[in-house]
Amino acid sequence: FDALQHQDPEIAGVVLDELDRLRGGLQLIASENLTSPAVLAALGSTLSNKYAEGYPGRRYYGGCEVVDRAEEIGNARARELFGAEHVNLQPHSGASANFAVYAAFTRPGDTVLAMDLKQGGHLTHGSKVSFSGKWFNAVSYTVREDSELIDYDQVRDLALEHRPKMIIAGATAYPRLIDFAAFRQIADEVGAKLMVDAAHFIGLVAGGAIPSPVPFADVVTATTHKVLRGPRGGMVLAKAEHAKAIDKAVFPFAQGGPLMHAVAAKAVAMREAAQPEYQAYTSQVIGNAQALAKSLEAEGMRAVSGGTDTHLALVDLRPLGVTGDQAETRCDAARITLNKNAIPYDPAPPLKPSGLRVGSPSVTTQGMTETDMAEIGALLGRAVRAEHGTPAGDAELADVAAAVSALVARAPAYPRP
Ligand code: PLP
Repeated sequence: FDALQHQDPEIAGVVLDELDRLRGGLQLIASENLTSPAVLAALGSTLSNKYAEGYPGRRYYGGCEVVDRAEEIGNARARELFGAEHVNLQPHSGASANFAVYAAFTRPGDTVLAMDLKQGGHLTHGSKVSFSGKWFNAVSYTVREDSELIDYDQVRDLALEHRPKMIIAGATAYPRLIDFAAFRQIADEVGAKLMVDAAHFIGLVAGGAIPSPVPFADVVTATTHKVLRGPRGGMVLAKAEHAKAIDKAVFPFAQGGPLMHAVAAKAVAMREAAQPEYQAYTSQVIGNAQALAKSLEAEGMRAVSGGTDTHLALVDLRPLGVTGDQAETRCDAARITLNKNAIPYDPAPPLKPSGLRVGSPSVTTQGMTETDMAEIGALLGRAVRAEHGTPAGDAELADVAAAVSALVARAPAYPRP
């Protein structure tokens, strides 16, 4: 960091300001986490210099014998951690991993059945603005309006009607466990491949805190930077019979040279995730998300589906008469970082949705527990109710921001250099 400060004070300033932002507030974005110094060290290493198109032992460049070791170690650790027959750590992101799986199992125009974006699915699950909705015939399943849980009968009916080539289970904003066996049964009934997009919850699987999709799915895609607490990136876990197709789809079809510094950092994260401390961390992540959901209910919000089994909760703000974008702005002013989110069957437009999504991975990494969640819920409730832009509201938000600063000072995100 000294070299950066010396050579480029402008960008060094950005890095320090971001550190201050992380240290100065509460990070409740469900898809984020705080990586370890060891992961950051691998990311900031000279492995970034190396071109290594291909796979270990089969590269298109010389001088890959050292970076080969990083990928082999990472692959072995991931196979062991997840009990997977095959692993590919090269996808640059979760979306790249998903793109590669579409490439391996489908052709443009094929039908793919996945969760509706408006109800918690990801852009790559058939949204019209993504390759998945533009190039594929995307059919969407939903959650039940009464329970807000995935409607497995509807998934089966849609599968029988549309005969998809591939079914995707997994979501971006679904707080409950997914019945992978039910999806497997439906996929088998119609001869579809089953892809589980575990981007959000793969870390909980790594820690043994929730059941694994690996035994049920043809492939599992994931990001490595969410609960798993590795570098920003993606990966694919696959049955051995799909290994060749997946590897060819990642490189050379979807990507060029892998980011070997990121692959090494993924290997570091896999090692960290195999430790008993990480298992305890993942149970605490769930305990904290449940405590946070309860405390938000006590503040008058409604927890979608009645709570959570995972690291995230969705809350409906309508009982408070506040929209998601208003709440996000107010929380920002109080140094609470989270995101507005549509709730299932949201009558409001996407930019002014009725809900918020909150997650516990970052605050749990900071060492916070259920008692802190009760305090966070109370502060969040005050922030959401404070009318931004009025003297009384702004004073209240400043007051909440001061309480947030005091709270995070007890458990700082990172030391400052
Ligand atoms: N799949 C799901 C379910 C996600 O939630 C996300 C990101 O939030 C992705 C895929 C895409 O990951 P990335 O942003 O790394 O491309």
